[in-house]
Amino acid sequence: MSVTAGTLAVRSFCITRSAKMVSRPRVVMAVGSNTISGASILKKLQKDCATPLPVLRHVADAMADDMRAGLAVEGGSELQMILSYVDALPTGNEKGLFYALDLGGTNFRVLRVQLGGKEERVISTEFEQVSIPPELMFGTSEELFDFIASVLAKFALKEGGKFHLQQGRTREIGFTFSFPVKQTSIDSGILIKWTKGFAVSGTAGKDVVACLNEAMKRQKLDMRVSALVNDTVGTLAGARYWDNDVMVAVILGTGTNACYVERVDAIPKFQDPSSTSGRTIVNTEWGAFSNGLPLTEFDREMDAESINPREQIFEKTISGMYLGEIVRRVLLRMAEAAHLFGHSVPEKLLMPFSLRTPDICAMQQDTSKDLEEVGSILYDVAGVNSSTNARNIVIDVCDTIAKRGGRLAGAGIVGILQKMEYDSKGLIFGKRTVVAMDGGLYEHYPQYRRYLQEAVTELLGPEISRNIVIEHSKDGSGIGAALLAATNSKYEHDF
Ligand code: ADP
Ligand code: MG
Repeated sequence: MSVTAGTLAVRSFCITRSAKMVSRPRVVMAVGSNTISGASILKKLQKDCATPLPVLRHVADAMADDMRAGLAVEGGSELQMILSYVDALPTGNEKGLFYALDLGGTNFRVLRVQLGGKEERVISTEFEQVSIPPELMFGTSEELFDFIASVLAKFALKEGGKFHLQQGRTREIGFTFSFPVKQTSIDSGILIKWTKGFAVSGTAGKDVVACLNEAMKRQKLDMRVSALVNDTVGTLAGARYWDNDVMVAVILGTGTNACYVERVDAIPKFQDPSSTSGRTIVNTEWGAFSNGLPLTEFDREMDAESINPREQIFEKTISGMYLGEIVRRVLLRMAEAAHLFGHSVPEKLLMPFSLRTPDICAMQQDTSKDLEEVGSILYDVAGVNSSTNARNIVIDVCDTIAKRGGRLAGAGIVGILQKMEYDSKGLIFGKRTVVAMDGGLYEHYPQYRRYLQEAVTELLGPEISRNIVIEHSKDGSGIGAALLAATNSKYEHDF
């Protein structure tokens, strides 16, 4: 998932917010006459964001077509369709001690798991989370990887109790690295560029596994990376461990991405005779999709002012980083053109990303008659006193944006399933197939989740949709990476 450098901007806005601007802000006088009503802006928004069945169908079909084009040749589509080199999925038989390491944002996690095979499964697991010191995000590659290796070394020292390594073995690690990487094998990958606020010198163009291995050597830490994986791939592996029918994984958090199990012979751009299973996981990087999406002037303006204009359009329409910001832009228009919050425009509402997706989600949970919670969030976020009428309009705006996002995400999922079904003739729709979901947006936004499910059901019809199970797989990517270290272990194994 590439949330790209946009995250940096959000972070700085969050700092402003958390600095608690409690005093009521100076208000800016509204411009223009009050000839347009909030209700009419809402009506136009609902029309522009509408996702009736034909629109969903078009999006699903276009997603399937773009996937095919991206598999045909490198650069053949907006979707990169990145090969994960994961061709052996967890079965449940994995045994032994494995580590995982997750670097994907400001936090960094280390985890160990003792696997006991089909019967005992996860015997024990432990993890630690550390935040990356900000100066290391702007330092040298050696400094960052030395820090990671030192955290890992300290964590490994605390190993005991139910954890034990088979004699004569080196500890193996699954490394979840959620930055754009050109993978060259299951245990190597070249960093294309740092994103999400990282500006570390000397890593781009290098193999990140080699960087980590060298740092571990400097720390005198005898461990080895057996699998380098993206977080979506980790989620798929983690869910698959418990359920053999998992074929797709989707992350809906700050950003979004999806991966799925593909047949090697359906990937013309990659013909690897060494693949033993004939299957591999493909990371779609679907956030870059854009074909046929119902977009509004608010989306276009947000995109134009973003750090990555014209990129990641699907992500900007459906993921957690942006939903609140789209709503803010609509409310600002309503304040300016329709005086929704009185005769002045609240200054806080002018600040990009001041309204966050958790805020719009919290407002939608308010079922009270006077919408008091909506009123207090609007006061906190925008510094306005609102009428009940205004609060009702605000909720409708939130719902419109969440509905479009959820339904389009659902259409994207159906696109992936359709592509798989077409190539496998009945193996997807004709039996139980599970889509593993993770990410804060999916986890915490019930309306969004419901809209997503509704779109899937509408598109597939009642019969087929009974076979398609969309399931939350919470934090599966950590254990997933450790499991992939196991399935790709250099030691002899029969799992
Ligand atoms: P990340 O995607 O950064 O790895 P998460 O999967 O935890 O992290 O997702 C965090 C994102 O989830 C936030 O940026 C936010 O957009 C969304 N989110 C978190 N809490 C809520 C909530 N209560 N309601 C709606 N969205 C939420
Ligand atoms: Mg995440």
